Amino acid sequence: MKRQKGVVITGKNTLAISNDCPLPDRICSTGALIKPLIWSPCTSDAHLCVTGCESLPYLLGKAVGHEMCGEITQVGEDVHDFQVGDRVIVCSVMPMWRSLEAQDGHAKNRQDNMYAGIDYPDRGGSFVEEYYIRDADMNLAHIPENVTLEQAVMVPDMMCTAFEGVSQLGMEFGSSVAVLGIGPVGLMAVRAAVLNGAGKVFAIGSRKVCYEVAQAYGATHLVDYHKEDYVEQILKDNGGPVDGVILCGGSEKEMNKGLSMLKEGGTLVNLSAYFGGVPIEIDPAVWGFGYGDKTIKGVGCKGGRLWMSRMAELVACGRVEPEKMITHRYHGMDKIPEAMELFLNHDRSLIKPVIYND
Ligand code: ZN
Repeated sequence: MKRQKGVVITGKNTLAISNDCPLPDRICSTGALIKPLIWSPCTSDAHLCVTGCESLPYLLGKAVGHEMCGEITQVGEDVHDFQVGDRVIVCSVMPMWRSLEAQDGHAKNRQDNMYAGIDYPDRGGSFVEEYYIRDADMNLAHIPENVTLEQAVMVPDMMCTAFEGVSQLGMEFGSSVAVLGIGPVGLMAVRAAVLNGAGKVFAIGSRKVCYEVAQAYGATHLVDYHKEDYVEQILKDNGGPVDGVILCGGSEKEMNKGLSMLKEGGTLVNLSAYFGGVPIEIDPAVWGFGYGDKTIKGVGCKGGRLWMSRMAELVACGRVEPEKMITHRYHGMDKIPEAMELFLNHDRSLIKPVIYND
């Protein structure tokens, strides 16, 4: 195993540049090596850092990062559709397409990446000089000609997660949707709901920088999360409970708020990650006392080439402008820890940072 430079978590709230990140000597026949051209750190990277990888202890000392686009430097002999030099979007979640879960229609539930709860000694995150993936044909997507790197790096997690969440709402034209939490995934969910034919879209947040983007994406109502009675306000403005709720922020307590604004028969899609071990308590009254036909779905990022290509197509056709979410730009791998600090310090001007590898 060769060694390379990367950004690793070394303990609670500490990141470091390491020269000891693994890079396999040989790639498998379906695999590829990718040289990153742009990275974007994510709240989940930050969460791992804050807790010192409490939920995934084997990640300590390994490279983090899962949102990256780059250029292919090597492909295995069984890779058909990608060549050295291609500019690609790299999948965040790495579904295993040769698995029973895939045959069951849930490829994303069996993943080949280090966040999946499996310790692969030859792998790590993508904040490295060269990133190894095992299934290039299935887990890479070409970046369309007119899509910039900044736009493309919003695809693998921000778009792939939010659009998957909204597609699981089962919306109809004119449906009302509330998005609770308008960080980058929430903002993409606002846009996804609009493109999916939503009528009223309630964007619930607290920061001006996010409200502005939510409005640009088509939110009809900007709701202040800190107002005690914001649920009543939504019920009033909507003329009753909403058809669908997307939860993507806040604490374990938000589930009750989300359910209390949801109509009976409606669906709440949760896109938040709860690593803290805190139970999620549901007040029976807001869940229709258990028989209100209110569906709760916990939805994860949908990966894979087809879904990423579709997301990229939305950008290429001008239907989504994900670059509006980028608030901070850096250059060079050494700046990744600085970009991560924005999350750790809860910088109120932050939506999404990117780091160019130049
Ligand atoms: Zn992410």
